[in-house]
Amino acid sequence: MKILRSIEDTRATVQAWHKKGETVALVPTMGYLHQGHLSLVKIAKENADHVLVSVFVNPTQFGPNEDFDKYPRDFEHDESLCNQAGVDGIFYPTKELTYAEDHSTWVQEENLSKTLCGVTRPIHFRGVATVCLKLFNITQCQVAVFGRKDAQQALIIARMVRDLNVPIKIIKAPLIREEDGLARSSRNKYLSKSEHQQALALSRAVFKAKKLFDAGERSSSVLLDAAHSEIDPSGGIIDYVEIMSQRALRPIATITEPALLAVAVKYGKTRLIDNVFLEV
Ligand code: AMP
Repeated sequence: MKILRSIEDTRATVQAWHKKGETVALVPTMGYLHQGHLSLVKIAKENADHVLVSVFVNPTQFGPNEDFDKYPRDFEHDESLCNQAGVDGIFYPTKELTYAEDHSTWVQEENLSKTLCGVTRPIHFRGVATVCLKLFNITQCQVAVFGRKDAQQALIIARMVRDLNVPIKIIKAPLIREEDGLARSSRNKYLSKSEHQQALALSRAVFKAKKLFDAGERSSSVLLDAAHSEIDPSGGIIDYVEIMSQRALRPIATITEPALLAVAVKYGKTRLIDNVFLEV
């Protein structure tokens, strides 16, 4: 497995594969990898000849009072997991390599990024879209895999690729959970034992609503009440509990098109998200 620390090495590696007619799938991550990330690697392997994982805690997607400085990092662990998973290369750039000091060009998706996490994290998706386009340009990948854990992010990247005619196939991979139901996340490391127990309300909430949806319920308010009945007593501070159309990420009263039930709640200092796709 190659450790690629420069843009030149990454391009040269990929060009050698392309010369042989071989394809590349990219899995963009911020590292501190877990089974959720590895599930993306598995899907990437099934969809291309080679898999690159990028590990980069992207400063431009963190707001001033967010956790950029304390975001967990463990490159040795990431390297060993990628090795075991059969990854061909890790692209591991520095901030200086990724952003020129006078960087001034941004990718701003202007619709899907305005709701849900975009309300409390106003610069987040601009940072995500910009770094993803940079990573696509650096790695020259044909496929990129994103997790439905970050459903809004996956929808925004798919929209960017469509709108800007980026010649890459975006695959949305299922959300992977811990055995107790909590959505796997690098940020789960921040949770105390009791916060972890409280946070199980998130998965209970989305499962409860999904069960009602599967039984035929199509009223968003009924489904949201069901979700709230789990989250409200859990002690977390709710950022949002919403049902949105997948097409526009705007609230819908009755689910007559593919929708997304998404929640964001803070336990202690840790903001967690969870979701379920509501599709007939
Ligand atoms: P992150 O390192 O948190 O930025 O995530 C990198 C990629 O892994 C994103 O596409 C995430 O959606 C995906 N991912 C993170 N956690 C999970 C999970 N529990 N299930 C599926 N995908 C995930």
